[in-house]
Amino acid sequence: MAYGREGHREACSFCGKSYDSGQKLIQGGQNTFICADCVELCYSIIKQDVVRPRRAAGVLRVPLPSEIKDKLDEYVVGQEQAKKTVAVAVHNHYKRLLHADVDDVELDKSNVLLIGPSGCGKTLMARVLAKILDVPFAIADATTVTEAGYVGEDVENVLLKLIQAADFDVERAEQGIVYIDEIDKVGKTYHNVSITRDVGGEGVQQALLKILEGAVANVPPHGGRKHPEEKYIQIDTSRMLFICGGTFTGIEDLVAQRTNQQSIGFAREGAGQEESSRDRLLEQVTDDDLIKFGLIPEMVGRLPVVAPLMPLSEDDLMRILVEPRNALVKQYQKYFEFEGARLEFTKQGLRSIANAALEKNTGARGLRAVIEKLMLDPMFNLPSLPKGYTYVVGRDVVRGEKPLLERRKRKGA
Ligand code: ADP
Repeated sequence: MAYGREGHREACSFCGKSYDSGQKLIQGGQNTFICADCVELCYSIIKQDVVRPRRAAGVLRVPLPSEIKDKLDEYVVGQEQAKKTVAVAVHNHYKRLLHADVDDVELDKSNVLLIGPSGCGKTLMARVLAKILDVPFAIADATTVTEAGYVGEDVENVLLKLIQAADFDVERAEQGIVYIDEIDKVGKTYHNVSITRDVGGEGVQQALLKILEGAVANVPPHGGRKHPEEKYIQIDTSRMLFICGGTFTGIEDLVAQRTNQQSIGFAREGAGQEESSRDRLLEQVTDDDLIKFGLIPEMVGRLPVVAPLMPLSEDDLMRILVEPRNALVKQYQKYFEFEGARLEFTKQGLRSIANAALEKNTGARGLRAVIEKLMLDPMFNLPSLPKGYTYVVGRDVVRGEKPLLERRKRKGA
């Protein structure tokens, strides 16, 4: 093996990869080098040695369901039932991990399926859970797995994202949370009410199932399989928590069909007075409905906890503007404070913003678009204006009838 300055080729003293092959090398003592890959590898070995004793000593405490729910409340407005369901599932999942003697206890996973319209808080909920539990978090989109065509590769890239989020600490990544979005878009379509795709759905589900089921996966450290000489990172997915999300547009029709049939068949009391709203129906989604919609039974079996999320109302959107810890209104008020000014919103102002967002039909996602447009000019001009004023966002400002910076009041605020 030629390394060091021998033959004027600098190379990693650990793995022998040379500088010429494009490796970044760090020089230690004389003629000693280490490449970026080996640094990463050493780092993960050292990290494991730190994490393992911490875990063994029971330092990683699982928060109570009520604590998880309280934390979720700080960020997620409404969705009470879903927050409760998820808090219990997540508590149980991590409790099992902590107490299970991995050798003789078969771990049942409590992966979660979140059903709800776009922009109602599904991804947010998964992200906040990871934050509460202080575990690595990665987001994947089930439809991109389809589009790439090369299924296995992409599924492993999902795990790579998690490993990266864990700073290449594989053991930490193994306890992480993966959010898989748009799971409803990779359904088999022959029963599917929303005809979105016609091929590939089942194959993608099978690929996702591999990691959901809990297996040891070989992950190429740089994604893809372009570097066959690379050592794969082995990661066990059996302890990860998978949260899948989708809008499942039209699934309520399947529930309605089924429940009506039952009502007729069994002449249930109160039949016919059943509420037909989507929300009510979503609460009754069963495994069979999911299978009819296009999920394969094995996938449904791996998602034992189903939590419906509701569309956000105007009042919810108004609360989302002001209540969460990272609420948009709080953020803009901070920016104004930096400029020695104050920013206030009237109730009608907030309502108008919520209304404009509702029209976009993208849930709470619309709020950011509306408020960013509203605030662009003020944020541009404010730093050049005299300090000490209070500016008020009322309905007129939101409707564009009056510029915000003209609606200032009392000096010395
Ligand atoms: P989806 O349900 O499509 O996954 P997200 O969770 O990504 O939607 O929501 C988009 C954005 O809208 C979030 O980043 C968050 O700021 C806001 N949001 C959505 N729902 C809620 C909610 N229930 N409470 C607070 N903010 C929300």
